[in-house]
Amino acid sequence: MNKTYEQLLPYMEKSYALNTALTLLSWDEETLAPREGMEFTSKAIGTLSNELFSTLMNPELKKLLKKLSEEKEQSSLSECEKAVVKNLKKSFDELEPIPQKDYRLYSELIAKASSIWASAKAKSCFEEFAPTLKESVEYNKKFAKLRAKDGQEPYDVLLNTYEEGFTMEKLDEFFGKIKSAVVPLLQKVKAKNDCIDKSYNFRHYEIDRQREFCRYLAGYEGFDFNRGVMAESEHPFTTNLHNHDVRITSHFYENNLESGIFSVIHEAGHAMYEMNVSDELTLTPAGGGSSMGMHESQSRFFENIIGRSADFWLPIYGRLQETFPEQLSDVPLSRFIQGINKAEPSLIRTEADELTYPLHIIIRYEIERMLFHDEITVDELPRVWNQKYKDYLGVEPSNDAEGVLQDVHWSGGSFGYFPSYAIGSAIAAQIYAYMKKVMPFDDYLREGNLTPIREFLRLHIHQYGSSKNTTKLLQGMMNEDLNADYYVDYLTEKYTRLYGLEN
Ligand SMILES: [Zn+2]
Repeated sequence: MNKTYEQLLPYMEKSYALNTALTLLSWDEETLAPREGMEFTSKAIGTLSNELFSTLMNPELKKLLKKLSEEKEQSSLSECEKAVVKNLKKSFDELEPIPQKDYRLYSELIAKASSIWASAKAKSCFEEFAPTLKESVEYNKKFAKLRAKDGQEPYDVLLNTYEEGFTMEKLDEFFGKIKSAVVPLLQKVKAKNDCIDKSYNFRHYEIDRQREFCRYLAGYEGFDFNRGVMAESEHPFTTNLHNHDVRITSHFYENNLESGIFSVIHEAGHAMYEMNVSDELTLTPAGGGSSMGMHESQSRFFENIIGRSADFWLPIYGRLQETFPEQLSDVPLSRFIQGINKAEPSLIRTEADELTYPLHIIIRYEIERMLFHDEITVDELPRVWNQKYKDYLGVEPSNDAEGVLQDVHWSGGSFGYFPSYAIGSAIAAQIYAYMKKVMPFDDYLREGNLTPIREFLRLHIHQYGSSKNTTKLLQGMMNEDLNADYYVDYLTEKYTRLYGLEN
């Protein structure tokens, strides 16, 4: 092993251990911790975060990383080691400009923010969350300015954290293309919507039975319960300690069957990405999935492209009907497929259909951009939010819980994350177009055999962890860059077929 690289190992071990503790505390807060706990537990999180900061912001580590970036040292590193150095350097560069005291205070703020948001959401009271959100926005503005390079705009700095190379300029073009295809398509779809009756979805579905079916469903999809667990939280998410301990959550509603089912398929898609990272990368800074866009591509590939197709449900719909005989015996598969794909403007992003979904993202992108360009204040968020929903989707939230408070992201300080969902959908559609060319994709689904599909994803994407970025992964798989045309074509073809629209 390269001698300089060897000297990195103790820093990696310690920062890994601290990160593990922080991840577990955050998992606990979302799933089990009592509401009042965080007010106090957040102090421990502050201390651990402070320790993590000191471990990484070490002058000796800086010297080692600088030396390892030199050509002479690089030539004696394996591909895996190069990736580790690159990822560690990225974390170092992101953290270096931040004052240690601010980092600690911000970590404590974020530790508390989630329960404040949850309580505000339960009461549907934005004012209760606003002071915390203001503080978080101020910290993020300050950090982004400190991290900006060569006149970079602060919001571009935030976007780049989640998807390397994605700027407002690129996103404007990307979203422009999607908007010009989706808006007219949605108009045509809306005109025909009366012919789809999905009232079955809102019958009464016992939570215990949903839970049981969804465990089966996650396993069917490929979630490995020997290295993964499922719990419940307000907002479903995936987290992991390493590729042998991956955790997902879900949320079940008695009067909405789809909600639980598709969130489980989605999170299990994230989980399989993490589980399939090569063991060579386990416990290293390159041991998690690549960008957020790539991560969302995997969850959304399973949730939408596979999970909302008739071929996927053909072998297993009977089991769902057996689980809920009273609710579903009069609902044939064809009606269920139409129901789970029905496109109609709605208020809640996570419940949105594939066609209106990107509009929910565009709204958030535009709002965050205005917020970070000082064009609006935190207090104005509910008003701006409601107006945009009216403009883009023709619906208006009647309260903050179904409006500006619906997403968990801002309480976690994740500004600039939302576009990853749309980028993920676009990547997923592109991968799907390619996979259909190289394998009998639909046959595999109809046979209930997801193994070759999963194996393809493992081989071309998952195993690399974050040692390759989106561009490299797509290039390696199909020799192409990300191209939003595939997404537009996919949506157009799918909805034209489902709704029997004229071209
Ligand atoms: Zn996701």
